Amino acid sequence: MKKNEITFIFDSNSENESLARTVIAAFITRLDPTLEELADVKTAVSEAVTNAIIHGYEGMEGKITIHSRIEDDTIWIEVCDKGVGISDITKAMEPLYTTKPEMERSGMGFAFMEAFMDDLEVVSEEGSGTTVRMRKTIYSALNMS
Ligand code: ATP
Ligand code: MG
Repeated sequence: MKKNEITFIFDSNSENESLARTVIAAFITRLDPTLEELADVKTAVSEAVTNAIIHGYEGMEGKITIHSRIEDDTIWIEVCDKGVGISDITKAMEPLYTTKPEMERSGMGFAFMEAFMDDLEVVSEEGSGTTVRMRKTIYSALNMS
């Protein structure tokens, strides 16, 4: 079994969204993803990090932690903020649901994460923050042991 794990913590400013995406892209290179698989994972990470910045911290300063693990040909990604949290997770995850329509948000972030990854789990508590857990198996993975 091949295992690898990383954790990185960064400030909640929008410049770090592309940084987070790039780090995860580099991390899964060893699984030899197709361009499509790579784009899927990058988009999902982008959406989760953008949510943490915009909704979790509402543009204010805070730390975002990404914890990612590769086991064989599967990647787990956890994006964690200590922001305002989500009061109704089921509602928040509905496609087109947004609490910030005035910011031209379309309410599709969770829908994209769900579509692009194999599994999505959201844990959140009002006032203490949100953790988004995602999993995806990379089928083009080379089976080098
Ligand atoms: P889009 O992602 O299309 O720009 P959006 O961010 O509003 O729009 P989703 O990403 O699906 O849509 O999120 C839905 C809602 O869930 C948000 O409007 C927000 O209320 C809530 N939410 C999502 N992530 C967080 C978070 N990290 N902290 C607090 N609330 C969140
Ligand atoms: Mg969003």
